Amino acid sequence: MIFVLKPGVSKPDLDLFIQKIEARGFKTFLSTGTDHTVVCLIGNTATIDLDAVVQTNNIVEYGKRVTEPYKAVNRTVHPEDTVVNAGGVLIGEGMFQVISGPCSVESEDQIIKVAKSVKASGATLLRGGAFKPRTSPYAFMGLQEDGLRLLLMAKRETGLPIVTEVMNQTQLPLFEDVDVIQVGARNMQNFDLLREVGRSNKPVLLKRGLANTLEELLMSAEYIMSEGNSQVILCERGIRTFETSTRNTLDLSAVPLLKQKTHLPVIVDPSHAAGLRGLVAPLARAAIAVGADGLMIETHNDPAKALCDGAQSLDLVQFNDLMDDLKLRIAFEGKLMGTA
Ligand code: PEP
Ligand code: MN
Repeated sequence: MIFVLKPGVSKPDLDLFIQKIEARGFKTFLSTGTDHTVVCLIGNTATIDLDAVVQTNNIVEYGKRVTEPYKAVNRTVHPEDTVVNAGGVLIGEGMFQVISGPCSVESEDQIIKVAKSVKASGATLLRGGAFKPRTSPYAFMGLQEDGLRLLLMAKRETGLPIVTEVMNQTQLPLFEDVDVIQVGARNMQNFDLLREVGRSNKPVLLKRGLANTLEELLMSAEYIMSEGNSQVILCERGIRTFETSTRNTLDLSAVPLLKQKTHLPVIVDPSHAAGLRGLVAPLARAAIAVGADGLMIETHNDPAKALCDGAQSLDLVQFNDLMDDLKLRIAFEGKLMGTA
């Protein structure tokens, strides 16, 4: 249940209202928009007489029941788009960003080369896996701490903010200088990890699980927001279906649906969705057309020799060509890239 307050409510009046609600056993959180403050109640609100609250508290403009299980991420609670500040680069509400880089950081030479090239092509954030979730325990697991060190070096060289995946909460202290913490598809419902990244003050890129519904994705984002972190970016990266000719099936309808249901920015990762280099460009164009706020695209200086996900990685020339095309489409949508 939410109560939308009249504009210009004083702090003592707001505190008194919250005290009265909490005295009845509800938890509350505030959502502050440009015009209105919204008080959201958590708990079994069936016993509350909505009209009585509105009539007896003259700071309340109106009340509304929120039927969905997700509250903080719900657009009903917070109608304006959330803009995430990813190391100075804004995502959401007309700001479109392209995150690019290799699946895994492999060497200093590789990450610096890729970082400089994708930046020159127009990417605004650098990605690179240091801790890699792999299906096989015998596969390359990433350079781990050394990978983070090399990513930070690439950030210093290029100025690009960095996005990298955390696999469990014990690794979080190592992410101090990382700009965006990625929670991968396989960890979308690792609730302890979600709570812990929710307690950090860093933007979180939350990828949709391989077989998770949009409601489950939103509930995972709710875990992060319920710990006080509202800087969450959702990522559609393909889901598992009966189709075997692509690695996953890109669920494009997820983008406009999520944007109706939540105020959080939504980006698309066509690389992991397709698993095939040749599909990355058309799916990236489709993502822009359906209203995505950004893209994550895997690139490599030598995809044939990549230690991970080479088949879906664009080489640096292919990425540059794609960006030339995407820049026009992003501008056509009336969106801006880079810093505002
Ligand atoms: C990745 O981004 O490298 C990755 C492992 O993605 P996902 O979690 O979507 O599979
Ligand atoms: Mn990958």
